[in-house]
Amino acid sequence: MSNQDMLVRINTHFPLSTKAVGIKRLPSGDLIVQTPHKEAKKVLQDNQKWLVDLGKSGAILRDRFPVFVHSVRVDNIDQDEDKARQHIQSENRTLYPDLRIVRMAWPKSTAIKQKKYSSLILEVDTPEQANKLIQNGLCEGGEIKRCELFESGCKLTQCYKCQRYGHVARACRGVVRCTYCAKGHTVKDCPLKEAQDIKDKKCANCKGQHEAWARNCPVRIQETERVNEIYANRPSLYETGQGLAPILTNQSYSSTLSSGSLLKCSIG
Ligand SMILES: [Zn+2]
Ligand SMILES: [Zn+2]
Ligand SMILES: [Zn+2]
Repeated sequence: MSNQDMLVRINTHFPLSTKAVGIKRLPSGDLIVQTPHKEAKKVLQDNQKWLVDLGKSGAILRDRFPVFVHSVRVDNIDQDEDKARQHIQSENRTLYPDLRIVRMAWPKSTAIKQKKYSSLILEVDTPEQANKLIQNGLCEGGEIKRCELFESGCKLTQCYKCQRYGHVARACRGVVRCTYCAKGHTVKDCPLKEAQDIKDKKCANCKGQHEAWARNCPVRIQETERVNEIYANRPSLYETGQGLAPILTNQSYSSTLSSGSLLKCSIG
């Protein structure tokens, strides 16, 4: 279904006034629905019949504002997420009486058992709370930890189905390409891989003589530069305004999510 089709389907549920004005697909496969104002967003949240038209198992995702907390002692954080969340909230009660942590996790890239300190990702549900943490820090283990806006759009993402960058396989609308020879099968079923003849290697992205994930692939190098630029230009605070943010531009993931008129949902 095209983005345009989705808009039409959503708006047929609201014949009197337009509730959705734009759709953005995230690398994760989730959607962001742009509404003209906060009130329209509320109508879409309260009346979710339109979700059924987009897929069998749609759901509205809660607004989340992730914050990156620097150098947290790994032993200090309970492995039980609920306990850990409550512990951090009570440690911060004086500074932030209304701090509500929705989720917390170690970054996926961290092999947590081997580390003494790691950064931690905390998600709160309002941009104001996230900004307070970014400006004043988080109390943890009797120390004030430095916090930063967490920008998830600045990670290199490669699809293991079609080998392209910028989305995951769950969100893939492309065809299967072999990482070894670029033909239409998975690498597991590749008839050429066994022979390990370098001549058989072909990159699904640039057609060069290397595997699709090769570090020297010009397409990968370009994509790495693109995500590094998003990281370098990420906003330092979340936007708290409710204006009509432009959609389908190069603006980063988190600043897109932070506007009061946007609704994030998953479809399936
Ligand atoms: Zn793909
Ligand atoms: Zn192959
Ligand atoms: Zn290549």
